[in-house]
Amino acid sequence: MEPATGNGELVDLYVLPQDPRSTPRPVRVKVRGPLRGGPIGDRIAVFDYNRDRDVVFRAARPRAGGGFPRYDVDDFRFHQLNGYAIAARAVELVELELGRPLRWGFDGSRLTIVPHAGLLANAFYSAESHSLQFFSFLRGKSAYHTVLAHDIVAHETGHAILDAVRPRYYEPWHPETTALHEAFGDLTALFAALSHDVIRRRVAGRLGRANLLSEVAEGFEASGEGGWTSLRSLVDAKPSAWKDTLEPHDLSLRLTSAVYRALVKLGARIRREGGGALAALKLARTVIQRMAVRALDYLPPADATLDEFARAMLVADTVAEPKDERGYREVVTGVLVERGLVPRGFPEPADGEKWRAYPPSWPRLSQRDAYLFLDANRERLALAPHAEVRDFVVRDVQVKRPPDGPGEVDQLVIVYEYPVDVELRGAEAEAAGARWITLRGGGTLAFDPSGRLLHHAEKPVTGERVRQTRAFLRDGEGSLFSAVEPTLDDQLRRAAALRPWLVESAAGRATLRANLGATCGRSAGKARRPVRRRR
Ligand SMILES: [Zn+2]
Repeated sequence: MEPATGNGELVDLYVLPQDPRSTPRPVRVKVRGPLRGGPIGDRIAVFDYNRDRDVVFRAARPRAGGGFPRYDVDDFRFHQLNGYAIAARAVELVELELGRPLRWGFDGSRLTIVPHAGLLANAFYSAESHSLQFFSFLRGKSAYHTVLAHDIVAHETGHAILDAVRPRYYEPWHPETTALHEAFGDLTALFAALSHDVIRRRVAGRLGRANLLSEVAEGFEASGEGGWTSLRSLVDAKPSAWKDTLEPHDLSLRLTSAVYRALVKLGARIRREGGGALAALKLARTVIQRMAVRALDYLPPADATLDEFARAMLVADTVAEPKDERGYREVVTGVLVERGLVPRGFPEPADGEKWRAYPPSWPRLSQRDAYLFLDANRERLALAPHAEVRDFVVRDVQVKRPPDGPGEVDQLVIVYEYPVDVELRGAEAEAAGARWITLRGGGTLAFDPSGRLLHHAEKPVTGERVRQTRAFLRDGEGSLFSAVEPTLDDQLRRAAALRPWLVESAAGRATLRANLGATCGRSAGKARRPVRRRR
């Protein structure tokens, strides 16, 4: 057996807290062990393969006594550990908040990190290859490695996390679902940056001014020569940035800039209560981050919108803090209402009525028990029309466990869904390159351990949804979609397709896929065409 770090122990690793230029000194972080050479952990593995050159670089290895050597920042083995640690911390945070381990959105147990994938001013999550791919490019005379940019690594990990929780979002029929993917990536980057004391110290007390994120966004700014600017734009984003557009990053600003504003307002509020600037920032970040991460449990199974995410944030907080004694939710709600993301008076309390036919296994249901339970209560599900007879499947049964009582159950989430085939004609059929698409209906139900409904994120296939999807196809024709063969190599597809969505059609049926490689790092050299919603 090759050496590994201690079992179940936390392992010290070093990361650049922002960017090699702005924060050249590594800081120490802790991640869950054990780690083997690579590094390889239980959820994430680094494989340092350069495809352009067809070489595998030497991997970081733990010493015989456990723990990794401190490599020089220029050493590729430092890059490997840097990428691993940033991704692992983001994943561990989500697992802690959701009270369960993540299962990836692809058929595999480990997310592979490829730190030096080749020469390109880009980085992306690719579910097809189970990986986060980080590329390098020349900036001036020196190489810039995107795996060293904290924001970029955290952003890409955010995509993998959202895909793990709601894999259908990778095949959206709503433009905002891809925008939500970008938004979640940016929020992951923002919270990850603010997890470092050295970053908080730099920006605390300047929350209300634009310099918070002009600091935080440095990595984005520097790396893409015009790309990766999304975090900076959080601060000064104006509604005109997302009005009438379908471009996922621009669209995502509607949500991310609101969350940022909520962070600023909450920080100011905490300071008025008498906290110091640093403590206020730390607490505001914890509160907002908790809402955003726990929101993942309350999202519908497919085609989520930015509004639905904003609502899920407030639901998450209402479940955790029903009384809002400190008034923090009120501050956040105010911002989300002002931005038109949630209606006034949201959320209304769930009806609290008991359902029928709780199985004896409650609340530790098997998939089969969950199905029988929902089937016995089908009039309460989002199955209309045809609620009496419509077939559906239970996609997921998620049990949330408290951190201090792993045998207990805090909450039970059941995700159910069903397909509805929609026939296309004319320009829509032309845009899709097929006559049929499949919309997913269903919902996400959250119950407390006693069986009381906490929330139902309903997503029926309504006539309105079908009309919106048709309009999306007509808008996208010619500028938003790239048709690809399902069998083509992933990398080739991305190189060829700089559009936000890829359309795969086979046997007369089309599937849309978010082209994260094109929307994530809108990097240098890509002419950005405005993507406009038609009037
Ligand atoms: Zn992205």
